[in-house]
Amino acid sequence: MPLKATDYAFIRALRTAQVLVDTDEHELRATDRFVASACADGDRTPELLDFHRGHCPEGCFHNQLRHGGPLALAEHSPLAYRDGLPHRECYLMELRESCEIKNTKILALYPHFPCSAAAKYGISAEQAFDLTVEAKLYLKKHIDGADVRIFVHVDYDGHPQATSGGRFKTYFFRRQRYEEWKLELQASVAKSA
Ligand SMILES: [Zn+2]
Repeated sequence: MPLKATDYAFIRALRTAQVLVDTDEHELRATDRFVASACADGDRTPELLDFHRGHCPEGCFHNQLRHGGPLALAEHSPLAYRDGLPHRECYLMELRESCEIKNTKILALYPHFPCSAAAKYGISAEQAFDLTVEAKLYLKKHIDGADVRIFVHVDYDGHPQATSGGRFKTYFFRRQRYEEWKLELQASVAKSA
């Protein structure tokens, strides 16, 4: 599934605005221990593991994989409640237990693009970023002392890892900068109206 043109444009705008920055600009310590919330997409999981093994070789990485990953944790997400089942609450419980088991408060949220689970429910890239921010706030509210970091994986070519040789990139997402950028956009729209 290729990255949609509108999603590509949104991601590039975030990159230009320094909302998405290179991960070496974010201090990841070699010994950091993470609980990860990521999509169950098996084409992307190897990159996720390689990424953290590369940055945190002495750390520990506990995966909690679900359709859409952190998108299931946002109240306004169509992935939060499906077929009458409270996926959001169940996922929270599993993440909380993972933090206890691995003795860490660091959670890494990994939305990825393009995401088939998001596409199935008509979630655009812009909505996915908003939902991931919502997911972060939800975890901080319900897991005492949680340090929630957001990383974003982009497959620019949309091909499976084994065959593409394509352009994969993992970024660090700066939430505060995202909020500022949205306010700047709103201000410029109001100015030109
Ligand atoms: Zn996915």
